[in-house]
Amino acid sequence: MKKIEAGSLYLKQHRNIFQCPICKGSFETVDGHSVVCANGHHFDVSKKGTLHLLMKGGQNEYGKEMLSSRKNLADTGFFYPLLDAVYAHIDNPESAIVLDVGCGEGSHLHYLTEKGLAGTKVGFDISKDAIQLAAGNFFEDAFWCVADLAHSPFAESAFDAILNIFSPSQYQEFDRVLKPGGKVIKVVPNAKYLIELREQLYALDTTKREYDNQQVVDRFYEIYPDAVSEEVIYTVDLDEKSYGWLMEMTPLSWGASEESLANAAANPLKSVTVAVTLLVASKTI
Ligand SMILES: [Zn+2]
Repeated sequence: MKKIEAGSLYLKQHRNIFQCPICKGSFETVDGHSVVCANGHHFDVSKKGTLHLLMKGGQNEYGKEMLSSRKNLADTGFFYPLLDAVYAHIDNPESAIVLDVGCGEGSHLHYLTEKGLAGTKVGFDISKDAIQLAAGNFFEDAFWCVADLAHSPFAESAFDAILNIFSPSQYQEFDRVLKPGGKVIKVVPNAKYLIELREQLYALDTTKREYDNQQVVDRFYEIYPDAVSEEVIYTVDLDEKSYGWLMEMTPLSWGASEESLANAAANPLKSVTVAVTLLVASKTI
C-alpha cells in the first residue's frame, strides 16, 4: 500500500483521537486523502502518509543536518537506557495509545516500538523536516504529524500516555488529551547531563557550563503533587563519529566560541555522561 493510502486508512480508523486545530471540532470524515471536520476545515494527507496540522508555517529551529545527526547518534544506542526507563513506566505497552510530544525524527518511538510498544502511536513535532524524516525511516512505527501543542489537533481524553522527552510542556493540554488515569512521562536533563561536553565548551563560562532543572521539577510537582521521579545516569563511550554527531545534535554547541569549538574538534571526548530526571504522574480526574 502507498504511504498516502496507509495514512488515510489510519485516519479513517483513528480520526477520533484527533480534533480540528482551527475550530476544535471533531473530524467527521476522511474524504479521499483529506480529513474533514464538522465545519468543513480539511487537512490533506501527504504523499509520505503524514498530516500537516499547523495553522502557520512550522519553525525549523532544528535543521536537517542536526536531525540526521540525532538519528545517527540514537542508532548507536545513546538514548537506550533512558528509553528503557521510560518504557517501564508505560502501563499495558502492548495496547496503550501513546502520544510522543516533540518526537523529532522519530528515533525514540521507533526504539520503544521495537521494545514492545504496540498500540496506537502518534508522534508529532512542529518541525516539518523532523516529521518527514520520521515518516521516511519509521513509517510503520507510528502516525507522524506536524502540529503545535498551542493549537492542539488531539481530542480530549484520547491517550493513555504522553511522552515528553527533552521537549516543551503544556500541562493543561496534556491533562485535556489524557484519559483519566493516563500518564505523563517527562524526561529532563539534570545537572550532570553531558557534563564533560559542557566543561569542554564552556571552560570559562560558568553560567553556560552549569545547568539546573529544579524549576522544571518544581513546576511538575506543583501540577502533579503525587508525581514520582527517577534519576537515570549512565556513561556512553564515544568514537570520533559519534562525538561529531553529538556536537552537531546538541544546542550546547550553538553558544560556544569558535575557539572552544576548534579545541573540541581537536580533542574529541572519549565518553560522555547521560543524566536525566524522569518525572511521572497520572491524571487524577
Ligand atoms: Zn474545523
